[in-house]
Amino acid sequence: MNEQIYKQLGIEEDVYRFCEQICEALAPRFAEIDKRAEYNQLKVIKAMQDAKVSEACLLGTTGYGYNDLGRDTLEAVYANLFHTEDALVRPQITCGTHALALALMSNLRPGDELLSPVGKPYDTLEEVIGIRPSKGSLKEYGITYAQVDLLPDGEFDFDGIKQAINEHTKLVTIQRSKGYEPRKTLSVERIGQLISFIKSIKPDVICMVDNCYGEFVQTIEPTDVGADMVVGSLIKNPGGGLAPIGGYIAGKKDCIENAAYRLTSPGLGKEVGASLGVSQSFYQGLFLAPTVTASALKGAIFAANLYEKLGFTVVPDAKEERFDIIQAITFGKPECILAFCKGVQGAAPVDSFVTPEPWDMPGYDAQVIMAAGAFVSGSSIELSADGPMKPPYAVYFQGGLTWPHAKFGIMNTLQEMKNAGIVTQFP
Ligand SMILES: *Cc1c(COP(=O)(O)O)cnc(C)c1O
Repeated sequence: MNEQIYKQLGIEEDVYRFCEQICEALAPRFAEIDKRAEYNQLKVIKAMQDAKVSEACLLGTTGYGYNDLGRDTLEAVYANLFHTEDALVRPQITCGTHALALALMSNLRPGDELLSPVGKPYDTLEEVIGIRPSKGSLKEYGITYAQVDLLPDGEFDFDGIKQAINEHTKLVTIQRSKGYEPRKTLSVERIGQLISFIKSIKPDVICMVDNCYGEFVQTIEPTDVGADMVVGSLIKNPGGGLAPIGGYIAGKKDCIENAAYRLTSPGLGKEVGASLGVSQSFYQGLFLAPTVTASALKGAIFAANLYEKLGFTVVPDAKEERFDIIQAITFGKPECILAFCKGVQGAAPVDSFVTPEPWDMPGYDAQVIMAAGAFVSGSSIELSADGPMKPPYAVYFQGGLTWPHAKFGIMNTLQEMKNAGIVTQFP
């Protein structure tokens, strides 16, 4: 039955059969993911019920946005969900980088030091911190930065971290996802160990977790293991594909208060900030987020199993446990990246007819190719792939609002590999 519709979409029989065979073997793993999604779905429902979400919450305000019921209740929902005292969830937070910058700039003061105990942070944060000189960076405000890299085996450098913590250390930033680094993504349990260690040395240090791409992958979140703040983007996991913009910070009351005074103005804080018309998409997106994240995870696991079988290096590998939704595949050849991205693009519901081309993206030292045909521009919870056109020619793949779309997208990458003559045999 399904073979016919795949054929109409350009998937040939040998590609289809090979992919189906891999999917069948993944059934037990997918069942585990579904179980976790079920738990997280109920967790979201409980958070919404406990906050007494009502139909009136779905409406929006304009202007100052005083007494915006939808906005204030949604922030209570996020606080319930992450088991924190408070949360800031706003369309005025423009992206993940902005949310992280806001959390950092509002909770650090001149003379304070920021510490990353897990190596280099996400690319865009380099300019926020001032690792790369930038206007308005923390560095310009007299906030220093220290970094302790992970050990070669990926473990925390506890001795190095202990030495790096000093009387100026005010805030520790821990990135959950590997992002585009070769290290492993941290499990919530490992983040908990790290936070316990840091707090045993300096109890009043603020531990912040960059939660991007990690939400709902496990059944606990970093705030369940001692994090004072979690920060993320609504055009990734927690927006469920429906949020058109936004970011969140959930955490201790004073941390959130600082962030609110910085986002709007001292004295105004959380009281202003109209939700315009986006509240409904924030609620509904959060409601869908557990199953959307599960779909993206299944896609990543399918891709890992498929390309590992074809002899390519995949990170995470086909078998290992996942702590975020990103899949890296190292191809070693530029033409593979082109074919892969063509396949992702060709499977999209939007802009399927365009061919992605490498371009000189600002801030990168090599050309970058990106594939996405998203309903929300730049949304990486939707099926998307990107890769720098330089050795080792790796592509980073993530997202998929539904499992059938993620599956088709990956099948289509293989079809494009076949069309380009790169893959000729299916083991
Ligand atoms: C995506 C991401 C960010 C930045 O989010 P943007 O929305 O792209 O600004 C920061 N940290 C990590 C780990 C991310 O994955």
